Amino acid sequence: MQRLGNFINNRFEESAAHFDDIDPATEEVIARVPDGDADDIDRAAKAACDAFPEWSRTPGAERSRFLLAIADGIERHFDEFAELESRDNGKPIALASRLDIPRAIANFRFFATAILHQSSEAHVTDGKALNYTLRQPLGVAGLISPWNLPLYLLSWKIAPAIAAGNTCVAKPSELTPLSANRLAESIIEAGLPKGVVNIVHGYGPKAGAALAAHPNVPLISFTGGTATGAKIAAAAAPMFKKLSLELGGKNPNVIFGDADLDAAIPTSIQSSFANQGEICLCGSRIFVERSIYDEFVERFVAAARKLRIGDPLDPATEVGALISEGHMRKVLGYVDLAQQEGGTVVLGGKRVDRRGFFVEPAVITGLGCECRTLQEEIFGPVVTITPFEGEEEAIALANSTRYGLSASVWTRDLQRAHRVAAAIESGTVWINCWLLRDLRVPFGGMKESGVGREGGLDSLRFFTEAKNVCVKL
Ligand code: NAD
Repeated sequence: MQRLGNFINNRFEESAAHFDDIDPATEEVIARVPDGDADDIDRAAKAACDAFPEWSRTPGAERSRFLLAIADGIERHFDEFAELESRDNGKPIALASRLDIPRAIANFRFFATAILHQSSEAHVTDGKALNYTLRQPLGVAGLISPWNLPLYLLSWKIAPAIAAGNTCVAKPSELTPLSANRLAESIIEAGLPKGVVNIVHGYGPKAGAALAAHPNVPLISFTGGTATGAKIAAAAAPMFKKLSLELGGKNPNVIFGDADLDAAIPTSIQSSFANQGEICLCGSRIFVERSIYDEFVERFVAAARKLRIGDPLDPATEVGALISEGHMRKVLGYVDLAQQEGGTVVLGGKRVDRRGFFVEPAVITGLGCECRTLQEEIFGPVVTITPFEGEEEAIALANSTRYGLSASVWTRDLQRAHRVAAAIESGTVWINCWLLRDLRVPFGGMKESGVGREGGLDSLRFFTEAKNVCVKL
């Protein structure tokens, strides 16, 4: 059995205490994970601090080459990474191969080249002074990531952090440590100087909290649940750390009567059930204009019924296992709650009769927006479908939660598409599509879905400090 080590100063350290990493599809232990603590975080932060002066002075073109080499290393071992991600998370290997691993490679390549095109501003003050802006790395970045898209989100943080000249300490999710551990091998292969990237495994309240509160880690980029984000913000605030919080969602998927259902239905199946509904951007609240409600429900349920649930390592599988037994119980609990609240489960919602944490995709109707089922993030293969009348009601329903991460709108009416996009309170609105991502665009949430923006220039701005230099003319 593989015993992972914390990765500090380009070495895998032996750890005194470990816990089990469980394959959610088989319930078997597949690795032993270091139970990282404050001492491990402290050693990693020291390694990162020591590496910072030289790394921050390394020319951009050289930093870029290291990032490209890491991307090439992941690509050379593509199948191995995809399999690790699938086994660790329970996601279909087809999805890991189509989404997670290509995106991890793209993240390193994107920021490797973005850094070469960075420019900064100058402001001339009435012929009296010249101001120019220096964008400087801050030091050690603390990077905390969740289990649903493990390498995709970890690389989304590591790549811009080190491209901009910071060093980092990353704390991957305790539930999915394998791809981060394999990434550390690619980092060694790429020849990245020691201490630039350090990875400490362990539980959130122990290793994660120690990282968020570490005095020598001046910026924290966190992706995870809203409640955890609040704890991190509370720990970071007295030290005035720079913070980026990418949090939970309860995203609306609004289908108007004139939508092209031949496109809206298959994409809505994806936005509902891809990765077992465990993507922060999944559209878990579907709102359908009453004129097409019956047709939509019938066609959507028929398509959802056809999804192939099974062994995540089988290339034909479309729905794999949920991440853990605890999470599966939470999801099943919401299906029960939906019925107590008066909803009808028109499809699925039961545990699959086999080993592993499999839940049948569930479709629930008959509930209003005030119900907990439509207010709380379930983060599983469970969607509600609710009818609406007209644009005003659609917008009100879409905005009726404390979250504001993303939304999809389906209509052929161009003016309405723009009006509704402007009125929906969320960081991203997709019109007639879902999860179409361009790495240059700002990404983040409104309301309780997050603070700050990452992506493209926004990431490079987050991972640098702007300094104005004023020269008298
Ligand atoms: P989580 O908040 O439980 O954990 C996320 C990370 O934070 C893990 O590494 C965990 O160990 C760590 N952590 C937990 N408690 C901590 C603490 N007190 N201090 C410091 N670190 C701590 O989230 P999760 O269950 O891993 O992920 C699912 C959540 O992530 C969902 O709410 C989902 O919507 C959200 N998410 C958001 C985005 C986005 O871009 N907005 C993307 C993916 C997932």
